[in-house]
Amino acid sequence: MVTGGTSGIGLAIARRFVTEGAQVFVTGRRQARIDAAVAELGPQAVGVRCDVGNLAELDALYELVTRRAGRIDVLVANAGGAEPAVLGDITQEQFDSMFATNVKGVVFGVQKAMPLLSPGASVIIIGSTTSARPDRGMEVYGATKAAVRNFARSWTLNARENGFRVNVLSPGPTRTPGLLGVAAEGEQEAFVKMFENVVPAGRLGEPDEIASAALLLASDTAAFVNGAEWFIDGGYTSV
Ligand code: NDP
Repeated sequence: MVTGGTSGIGLAIARRFVTEGAQVFVTGRRQARIDAAVAELGPQAVGVRCDVGNLAELDALYELVTRRAGRIDVLVANAGGAEPAVLGDITQEQFDSMFATNVKGVVFGVQKAMPLLSPGASVIIIGSTTSARPDRGMEVYGATKAAVRNFARSWTLNARENGFRVNVLSPGPTRTPGLLGVAAEGEQEAFVKMFENVVPAGRLGEPDEIASAALLLASDTAAFVNGAEWFIDGGYTSV
């Protein structure tokens, strides 16, 4: 299950799991994006419209998964987004919207999936370097990502009873429609250049590179990794 699997990082992860032979459920809010993703991913993919911040829609999602698959081996809580605004300007709508998707959507997305998670299942929450390294205009967004990092650690306290692992993959700036959409029209090149100048690797991350880490975290090779936050960021959190 990849929430927000219709674009960017989520779509790259869904692609990778399809290549590995998995049946993959991808979700999003926009039907056109869901249809395009399923057309690309092929018969192993099932697309479901679901706003993760809406608990009734989450219930409907998992009812469908129960009927169609009966279990979830890997849950990637990826749906998320940023509405850039410095703390002095942030509006209540922006605040609520980011917390609804990035925090409520993750907490209840995992809670409601629990009866479906198979023994040894891997839950991967897509965090962000902003949980550890504040970016100007991303203060509230960063707080949402710090919150889910903390929830991930809390879930590990019940690892024996739960029987699943919860970890956080935190990308640095990664080339996705979501990130590039933050730049104003005609300013994308300068926006990318700004990151290239700061990220020690000298470039943006690629969604495929996050997918590689997700595959590793999902596998039994990572069976003892629980409550971790992996930064996949070209060194961005270090500067
Ligand atoms: P994109 O905007 O490219 O993709 C976001 C995906 O999430 C889309 O499928 C979108 O579909 C879906 N989505 C957004 N909100 C909701 C919602 N409320 N309910 C259901 N689906 C939703 O973004 P990225 O690939 O860049 O981001 C993916 C994740 O990675 C996010 O959690 C983001 O915070 C995180 N991240 C990204 C970084 C980057 O530089 N790209 C850096 C650090 C973290 P739709 O809009 O149709 O709902």
